[in-house]
Parts: sequence; structure tokens; C-alpha cells
Amino acid sequence: MNDSSIDHHHIWHPYSAMNSPFPVYEVESAEGVYLTLKDGRKLIDGMSSWWCMIHGYNHPTMNAAIESQLKKMSHVMFGGLTHEPAIKLTERLVKITPEPLEKVFYSDSGSVAVEVAMKIAIQYWHGKAQTDKHKFIALRSAYHGDTFAAMSVSDPETGMHSLFNDVLIKQIFIDQPGSRFGESCQQNDINQLESVLKNHGDDVAALIMEPIVQGAGGMWFYSADFLRQAKSLCEKYNVLLILDEIATGFGRTGKLFACEHANISPDIMCVGKALTGGYMTLAATLTTQEISDTIDQGEPGVFMHGPTFMANPLACTAACSSIDLLLSSDWENSIKQIEMQLSNGLEQCKEFQHVNDVRILGAIGVVEMKQAVNMKTITEKFVNAGVWIRPFGKLVYLMPPYTISAQELDTLIQALVLVLKEQQQ
Ligand SMILES: *Cc1c(COP(=O)(O)O)cnc(C)c1O
Repeated sequence: MNDSSIDHHHIWHPYSAMNSPFPVYEVESAEGVYLTLKDGRKLIDGMSSWWCMIHGYNHPTMNAAIESQLKKMSHVMFGGLTHEPAIKLTERLVKITPEPLEKVFYSDSGSVAVEVAMKIAIQYWHGKAQTDKHKFIALRSAYHGDTFAAMSVSDPETGMHSLFNDVLIKQIFIDQPGSRFGESCQQNDINQLESVLKNHGDDVAALIMEPIVQGAGGMWFYSADFLRQAKSLCEKYNVLLILDEIATGFGRTGKLFACEHANISPDIMCVGKALTGGYMTLAATLTTQEISDTIDQGEPGVFMHGPTFMANPLACTAACSSIDLLLSSDWENSIKQIEMQLSNGLEQCKEFQHVNDVRILGAIGVVEMKQAVNMKTITEKFVNAGVWIRPFGKLVYLMPPYTISAQELDTLIQALVLVLKEQQQ
């Protein structure tokens, strides 16, 4: 069997059938914003490998940091032991995240960071002898991951709740906020939230949401005012606020963390994806002193979670290096430039008759079509145009590495516009 037939017969890809009609492209290497395919073609990466590769691939500074750590130790268990990479990363995370967040739990993926956040919330209320508070309020069109608790707070339709109906925990859903980013919040968005908080406050542990940008559930940018008001309502009704910054964290929306658009801080926050600059899999859940103290004082006196690869030293080193690179760069300006170029370049798509909406925020540009695109043909067209863009459903979007040059971004935008224009005919 050759490589592609082994892949085809034996490997599952994300959300795919084993006998998938869709081709997968074999990547041989990657450098800067370019992916080099096995057949020699070079593609500009418009996806940052799903929000992650913010500094581009094969970055010399990050490579050097990881190589140096590799020579010391690649892994050691975290039970009863600790190490410098974890300590240094924690120092950085506590410093750059909103003020009251100062306790950090490391895990190996975003979904697990969400599971951990939900367990922290439940254990917190348990510690306060309010054991009825174990439900969660979540937003329609949300995406928080693929494990069971994370799925239970993701959109019921795209999250396939009917398929897993008997096993998924039933949570409380409200509509996605209709008010767009940059607008003030419509009263009915807030009314809905307030009414569920009023009715369910006694059995709800937390409201969980992606701040400002709903990612994989619909690429929707909502009003910062909604987030601000949601925070005050959580306080009013004695419910914790979990913000899932896994996609938005580390500058993507133009602020280091998207909650800064609303000037609020959550009780619990999840980060992942760009945390390591896309080099290694690592995620973290952060919370406050008050919450961790309450968990310590409750039964059984410890927080009940502990992954085998917790705080992997190579991953922590990659994360430190990525954060240092980001903070030492003029990232705010880079994001602003990307935002402007995306706005100017994608604007014309609004005129296309099969386009429903175009929206830009920070280094994210979304073209929402009226109908789902044909993934197979559109991907081929993008690859032939020398770009890597992976739409889902009606959404064709760009979220390039922050290091992309104006010229490379122009190529990416032109390819997207041209392929969408062709779709029209
Ligand atoms: C990707 C994502 C997750 C899940 O992270 P994984 O690392 O894929 O488990 C959770 N929440 C949000 C907002 C995400 O974008």
C-alpha cells in the first residue's frame, strides 16, 4: 500500500468517514506561512492550522527553545514533581490574563480544559454546600469541544445532541446573541438570559460562553455589551462565568483576550490552541483564589482531575516561547493591519448574490454564503490557487498567522474572492 491508500483505509480525519470521498493532501514540511505538499506544491496557510500557528511554521526561536528543553527532559509526571517550564509558563499566564485569575490547571487539549472548567464550577458549589448547582447555561451555536461534557454545552444541532440524547447531560440553552460586535446589545438577548438565570439560578453552576467570537459553531461576532451585561447578571444571580478563550486567546481578535473587549473578567477561563503557537498540544484552565480555596475546603479537599501528560515540559516551553515572541512583537499593529486588509479585500464579496454576510474582526475574516459550499470542489480550487482555506458549511473564512506579509495576505484574499466569484456562475 502506498501512503495515501494507508491513510484512506486506516486513518480517521476530523469529522470524516473512513471511506471518505474527500481527498486529504499530504504535507511534507511547513515554513513561515507556507505548507509544502508532498507533490511539491506550496500553499499559503489561511487557517493557522485551526487558530494555532500564530507565528507561522518552523519558527527558529521556538525551534531553539524546544530543542534546548528536549536535551534536558521531554516529559516527567506532574504528580509530586514540578519543573521550570511549568513554573515559567504559569508566571506568564497569571500576568497576562485578567486580574483575579491566578490558579492554573494544565491539560492536553481544549476539550479537556472545558471539562476541567465545568468540574471546577461544580466542585466550587459543592464546597459551598450548594450541591444542586450543577447545570450549565450555554449559547446556541457555541462550540466547546468534542468530549461529553464539552459537547453538552455545544450547539444542540451541530453538536448532534439527538444522536447522543440518552447520554448527554441536559443543559440550558439560550439563543446566540443577535446583536453584532460593535453594536449595543438588543434587549431581547439579555431578557432571555435573565429569565433563565431567574428560573434556574438555584441549579446552575455557571454560564459558559466563547467571548465575542463564536468559533466552530458559526463564526459569529457578537456585541461586547452582551458579554458585559452577562457578567453582571451572573453576579446578580450567583452563577459563575466560564469564558472559553481557546480560539480567541493570544491576540486573534485584536485584544490579547477577547473578554478585554468588554472589560470584564471571568471566574474561570480556558485557553488552548494558540497557547503553544501551535507547536504542541496544551491547554490550561485558570481560576481565582476564592474558587480554589473553596474547592480545597470542601469534600474531598482536592480538585479531582489529573492528566498523565499534565504540564508537559516541551509543551510548556513552547508556550513560554510563543508568549514571549508575541509580547515582544508589535502584535496589536500586525492584527490591525490584517484586519484592515481583510476588510478592504473581502468587502467586494458582499456584492456576490450567493453571499449572505461578510464580517471581519481582528485577524479573522468570514464570508457567510447563503448555502453550504461543496467542500470537495472548493478545496481543490483553493489548492490549485496556491492557498489552504478550509470552509465548513456556509462559512468560508480566513485566520492567517499574524506574521503573514501584506503580499501573502493579498494572494490569500484574491484566491478566496476569485474562487467565490466562480461559484456564482
Ligand atoms: C477548538 C476549541 C475547543 C476544543 O479544543 P480541542 O483542543 O480541539 O479539544 C474548545 N473550545 C473552543 C472555543 C474551540 O475553538
